[in-house]
This record gives sequence, C-alpha cells and structure tokens, in this order.
Amino acid sequence: MKSIIPAFLIVFLSCHLVKDKIKSKPPNLIVIMTDDMGWADVGFNGCKDIPTPNIDQIAKEGVRFEDGYVTFPVCGPSRAGFLTGRYQDRFGFTTNPSINPSNAISGLPVQEETMAQVLRKANYKNAIIGKWHMGTNAVFHPLERGFDYFYGFLSGGHNYLPERLNIKDLSEVKRKWQWYSTKIIENRKPVEIDDYLTDELSNAAVQFINKKANQEEPFMVYLAYNAPHAPLQATEKYLSRFPDIKDKKRKTYAAMVSAVDDGVGNILRTLKKNGIDENTIVVFLSDNGGPEQKNASDNGLLKGGKSDLFEGGIRVPFAMRWKGVIPENQTYTHPVSSLDIMATIVAQNDIKINKDRPLDGVNLIPFLTGKNKSKPHDMLFWRKWEQNAMAIRQGNYKLVSNTQQQKNKPKLFDISKDISEKTNIQLSKKELHNILLKEWNIWNDQMKDRVFPTLSEDIWWTNKD
Ligand code: CA
Repeated sequence: MKSIIPAFLIVFLSCHLVKDKIKSKPPNLIVIMTDDMGWADVGFNGCKDIPTPNIDQIAKEGVRFEDGYVTFPVCGPSRAGFLTGRYQDRFGFTTNPSINPSNAISGLPVQEETMAQVLRKANYKNAIIGKWHMGTNAVFHPLERGFDYFYGFLSGGHNYLPERLNIKDLSEVKRKWQWYSTKIIENRKPVEIDDYLTDELSNAAVQFINKKANQEEPFMVYLAYNAPHAPLQATEKYLSRFPDIKDKKRKTYAAMVSAVDDGVGNILRTLKKNGIDENTIVVFLSDNGGPEQKNASDNGLLKGGKSDLFEGGIRVPFAMRWKGVIPENQTYTHPVSSLDIMATIVAQNDIKINKDRPLDGVNLIPFLTGKNKSKPHDMLFWRKWEQNAMAIRQGNYKLVSNTQQQKNKPKLFDISKDISEKTNIQLSKKELHNILLKEWNIWNDQMKDRVFPTLSEDIWWTNKD
C-alpha cells in the first residue's frame, strides 16, 4: 500500500499541474475587422435583409457592445488607434497616409509599438491577413512591425476579383487608385490568387490557425477584411443569396457581407475543431461607420456615416467572445472603444508597457464578467485635426462639432435618449457643455499635429501608360 499512495499522489498532482499549465496559457486573440460596414448591417444590431448568423454567434456566445466605438471615422487613423491601443493623434496619425512606397514617414511611426510587437514579448505568433494601410514603405511592412505572417495588401482598398489584380506591385502604379489592382502579397512576395478576395482572406486565416506550429504558442490573428468597402464586387455564389433585394448596390453589398459571414463561420469552426475555442478571444468590429451613399450600407438610426464624428461615423458593430470567461448573450451598454482590445489582451499576459507610451484603453474583462460594476471609461475623445472637428462622450452625454468648431459651435446631445443626435440640449446644460469642452481641450493639448503627407498632397504615380 505504501508504494501505491505516493504513486497515486504523483499522478493526481501531475494531472493538476498539466491542467493548471493549460489553464495558465494566455488566450489567443482573433480580431475580425470589416471595412466601412454600417452599424445596422449585422443581425445582432437588427439587420433584416442580410443574415449574418456566424457574426451573430460571436455576440450570442459573448457580448454585444451597444455603444462600441472606434477612434476615428475613417480607415487609416482608426486602425492606427486599434493597433497601438493609443489615440492615434498622440503620434500625429490624423488622416489616411499616402500610398507612396518611397515615402518613409507616411505610416504608423516606427517608434510606436503595434499589438503584434507587444504580444511578441509574450511569445505570441502574429498574423495580419487583409488590409494593412499603415504605410507602404519597407520600414512600415507588417513583418517589420511584429507580425510573423502577412497575407494581403499594403494600401487602403482593393479589387476583389482575381482577374482585376493585374499589377505586380506598387512600383508599377501609373495612375491614382491603380493600387486597387496590385497582386496580393504573401509575406513579401506577390502571389496569384484564384478565388474571390474575401474567400482568400478567410482561407488564409483558417490555414494559419490550423498550423500546429502556431498553436504551440498563443497566437494573434488580425483578420482585416476590406469588405464591404468599395468597389462593390461580388460573385454569383453570394449574389444569388439575395434574390429579394432589388437595389443593385444593396444587393452587392449584402453579398459582400455574406461572404464575410461565411468566413467568420469557417474561423469559428476551425477553432472548435482544434479544441481552442475556449482559449481564444474573438472580437468582431468595423473600422468605421458605413458611407451609406457609397456602398449602400445602413447605419440605422445613427446620424451621419463614415467621415463624421456623429454616431454613424464612429459607433460600429462590435462584439466579443471568450467562452467560459465572458458570460453569454450579454448586451453591454456602457461605452467601450477599439482601444480596449489592446489593453484587454495585454492584461492577460505578463507584459510591461513602455511608460512613455501608455495605453489609452481599458481591460474589459472585469467589466464583462460583472466583477467591476463601474464604467470602463469616464470619457472618450475624438478629433479630426484637418477639419478642426471634435467630439467627447461622457456617460450619456456627447459634445460634438463635426466640422470647424469655432464656426459651428459644439452641440450637446443626450445619447441615451437621442441616439440620432437631433436635439441640442446645450442651453439647458450650459455648465456641462463648458466642462466637456474644457476636458476635450485638455486632451487635445496632448495630441500632435499631422506628421505625414496625405494621399492628395503626395502625387507619386507617373501618369504615364
Ligand atoms: Ca474603413
């Protein structure tokens, strides 16, 4: 008997150690970001004409953010905020950067650390699949910014049909917007693709997750679909799902969203198949609100759309799942930000953040588990430096001037009662108006002017055929 008991104890203890080790492995992170998707274009925000069962599954098995914000109403700056976990105006990323490949300042400043660079310190394997838009010069390349794998394109928008990708790389661009036709890049090499781009991106993400080598360490996948950003292009496979949508633009948009939803389904199934769906945080969001006229997106009751600091520009479809940690089927109503994704994943790891570049986001997990009943953010801030536009949200209230704030005085709205920002309550709440304006100015004083030329200021294409 004497020899059996210690043996039993050893097995018992080692089982516990193994269990603890599995439990203590930090979670993987998958961030699925769509491009220019409207707030009301997912089932979990009430969309009726485009079924999105897979995207909805993330919200159903986790949390749907009612007031989920991004940091800017246009692609580039919004992504720079998300990728660093810091207000992008802290480092002068105030607008979309130039696509000029010889421009070594137009991009995410190399002094800033991306989520991938930060997670690499905790041995994460990181992939970016899809749209980069953080600079096209070699110094900004994803593989120089903490990512181990890149499959996608460096510029801001792209054609979806393989036959339209007929330019080798940016060095061959002769006209403005021609970069929409460059070949897809795998790591540093242009590759030929056979499928619809959205399907290609989904497949690349599935392949990365399936690789056993990537599962040995935690991984992070930033799946940056360019869908449903213009140009509106879809294949018959997806278009045929919408015989009842008569508006051609909306029908194509619906098909593009449906392709994304299929991709999300493939990714969720891949996680399950590999037994890692419990230890993987999955986030879904759009990079900014829908430009309704341009791509037939729908922001629902929200005012304005892409480019606006009204809710339609900055409030996005936003959901997060972490099975076994975040209680299911929740709607979280306090405002949250895309900045919080970085702070949340950093908090699950033993990583030190540079004191000179503190994060602006908050670890959301204690708020989503109910451990912390207060609000994640006292205030959230926005600005459009070129337009001298501003916005600040505190609690139910939002002060906003969508263009030149000196000329068009900021207006105050109670978002909890007035989601469409119709009734300016400035006169009845003068004191609050002044406080919020003062707070915004304090924040604004910490921000930087733009550090790089924009698309329109940097003409680099040859204009020669
Ligand atoms: Ca966008």
